Amino acid sequence: MLSSETKKSQAVGNSTRLFERAQKVIPGGVNSPVRAFGSIGGTPRFIARGAGSRVWDEEGNSYIDYVCSWGALPLGHAHPTVVEAAEKALRDGSTFGAATAREVELAETITAAIPSIEKVRLVSSGTEATMTAVRLARAFTKRNKILKFEGCYHGHADPFLVKAGSGLLTHGNPSSQGIPKSVTDDTLVASYNDVESLEQVFTSHGKELACVIVEPVAGNMGVVPPRSGFLQKLREICTKHSVVLIFDEVITGFRFHYGGYQDLCHVRPDLTTLGKIIGGGMPLAAVGGRAEILDLLAPLGPVYQAGTLSGNPVATAAGIATLQLLQDKNIYAKLETLGAKLADGLKNPTVAINRIGSMLSAFFNEGPVETYEQVMASDREPYKRLFHRFLDRGIYLPPSPFEAWFISAAHTEKEIEETINGFLETNNR
Ligand code: PMP
Repeated sequence: MLSSETKKSQAVGNSTRLFERAQKVIPGGVNSPVRAFGSIGGTPRFIARGAGSRVWDEEGNSYIDYVCSWGALPLGHAHPTVVEAAEKALRDGSTFGAATAREVELAETITAAIPSIEKVRLVSSGTEATMTAVRLARAFTKRNKILKFEGCYHGHADPFLVKAGSGLLTHGNPSSQGIPKSVTDDTLVASYNDVESLEQVFTSHGKELACVIVEPVAGNMGVVPPRSGFLQKLREICTKHSVVLIFDEVITGFRFHYGGYQDLCHVRPDLTTLGKIIGGGMPLAAVGGRAEILDLLAPLGPVYQAGTLSGNPVATAAGIATLQLLQDKNIYAKLETLGAKLADGLKNPTVAINRIGSMLSAFFNEGPVETYEQVMASDREPYKRLFHRFLDRGIYLPPSPFEAWFISAAHTEKEIEETINGFLETNNR
């Protein structure tokens, strides 16, 4: 028998060794930066497998998972029906570079579920979807400028990687090297949830704007729901200035109910981007919307877009199986119940809990947290402590204070209670 001390030191052994090896051959040891634990410190756990609400690291430690592949898995890991569909598809050939029946089925499923989507093109990542949405908006309006909101993330294509300068409304500056200033000169940045800043942008630039892109519920600065009337105002002002409104629903699509957040807030965007859930955990995303805009895409129209693995047979199989399972309303009811229970249990004078359905954030902040500035005013240190204490207890939180926690329908009330108890104990220390 190993003593618990020995077990623990062994416990970080494999991940530590893997991370050392990884850093020699993969920049920073990871294939997406947040995985490196940069903002909370420590050695990233290498995940060997997942089932339901849990993941296991290479050492065999199990964790209740609140990352769930950043929102891609509302049914939890390795749902048997999804696995079966993907396995079956794989046996029939993994990719053809030719049209397949399941692409049609998935496109029909998406257009039936989200009324603003008349046509949809399938791609492989959220980044591709938003990049294509902007290209379409520019072609449709014959204008160049785009508007995004500070704190919203839309993938890593050049025009989105901007930070605001000083002042309320600003032209974006590249937030990454390797992006020409000339590219971000066409990106304007406004404050999320701030109607005044929106009106200012439109007063000075309304005629030059091709599109506004927004996460209808911000999920990449932690969870920040829209203030009442914000999205409605956005729709109104875009219509008035003939600007294409893009809802980036890569996270929110099929997260709160069967369809987009747009159905819940009753705002119809012109274009919508989807990802994560619609691929059932496989690389699949989509851009959809008004047919007259989508029909600008090649081969029908002059806007070029393509992809070797677009509409991949295995990914579409996993996506269709996932969406079929999500048609069961009990799943969303369960996600709401679990989300509410967790949020209630975490309530504490030192934290502001923002939650919609199964997606939440705990900001170490007196609150309210409704803007990017308020998010940034949160204390990062207590989150780092919480993260590591939770990791030691077998609870895996997002390795960043400003990312959303995701609950799946595979989580249990008991696991939520365990998480709340862990929070009360660690937060009082
Ligand atoms: N849009 C939003 C709202 C996202 O959250 C993300 C990724 N987290 C993306 C776009 C980019 O998606 P991907 O990582 O698949 O490129």
